[in-house]
Amino acid sequence: MATILATNPHLVEATSGTRTWQEAVRCAIRQAQTLLSALGLPLDLYGNEPETSATNHKFPLFVPWEFVARMQAGRADDPLLLQVLPRASERLDAPGFASDPVGDLDSEVVPGLLKKYRSRALMVTTGRCAVHCRYCFRREFPYDEVPKSPAAWQVAIDAIAADETVEEVILSGGDPLMLADSSLKWLVTQLNAIPHVVRLRIHSRTLVVIPQRICQELLEWIDLARMPVVMVTHINHPNEIDHALRSALGRLRDRRVMLLNQSVLLRDINDSVETLRQLSTGLLSAGVLPYYLHQLDRVRGAAHFEVPIEEGRRIVSELRTQMSGYGVPEYVAEIAGQASKTPLT
Ligand SMILES: *Cc1c(COP(=O)(O)O)cnc(C)c1O
Ligand code: SF4
Repeated sequence: MATILATNPHLVEATSGTRTWQEAVRCAIRQAQTLLSALGLPLDLYGNEPETSATNHKFPLFVPWEFVARMQAGRADDPLLLQVLPRASERLDAPGFASDPVGDLDSEVVPGLLKKYRSRALMVTTGRCAVHCRYCFRREFPYDEVPKSPAAWQVAIDAIAADETVEEVILSGGDPLMLADSSLKWLVTQLNAIPHVVRLRIHSRTLVVIPQRICQELLEWIDLARMPVVMVTHINHPNEIDHALRSALGRLRDRRVMLLNQSVLLRDINDSVETLRQLSTGLLSAGVLPYYLHQLDRVRGAAHFEVPIEEGRRIVSELRTQMSGYGVPEYVAEIAGQASKTPLT
């Protein structure tokens, strides 16, 4: 990596810690060839086409340099690269893989508010993400129809205020940390005024791929929340945890934010006891409790990431013999129509 770091100005800047998160989003890679050449890999790796590049127009490659800096040069099997690089196999239709595998569209209360489970409601605040994960179940979600501004969110806020069973509001997306801090501050202020909302949860991968997202403006609205704040990070592999991420997580812990992590079990990326053990160890060292290990949702184009449930069970049972019980995430599947995530072990 050293030689590539020295010659690639984007990587030099990404690792310097000087640019803002907004700049990191703006400079993110959108072309497979840019990514592959930065890593010294063949430009047609996994069926990428040097001429057209955009393998998938609806869900194009998108990855910040801050995340690329954690990849290993010259490794076609790098576990971080495999999460973001489109492969020709995405275009294969696999039986059982559909566009809304988790039934999200059926649990919409009002536009942008999902209530699948008792006591918590999930706000789809934006369709944008700081990285496009090739296995994502939301790759086919109709984000164009999602309310994306304070005026449009008012409908969801009113629905939360009218439903006293909602104890916890989950900000999700897309990724809520792609929103401007002024918008997030507006949301927190609205939720502060609803007495039955006693916890605020934020699900984000932005802070993982761009750790400088945990900036001063963000800490200010976190401080403003009258209720405990839970941040659920999305980290799949120990190599994602670097110094910058650890210090971002530290800034949240200083604010007494509870930190949990969810991962997706992914073929050739984290489907081994040793990788998951290192992931849990890295998370615990950073003050993050492993929460869920998700079975892949069967979204169209993601079949090559699937690990059979039997194999997942074997891996998690073995993991349990290797470390503290609280270091073992709960292995779950999302089954449409169920009252909670479904434990698999
Ligand atoms: C996963 C999910 C939640 C949160 O479930 P927990 O088990 O509390 O983490 C809430 N709402 C929706 C729509 C979800 O998909
Ligand atoms: S919703 Fe999460 S998993 Fe899906 S693309 Fe965005 S960051 Fe990745």
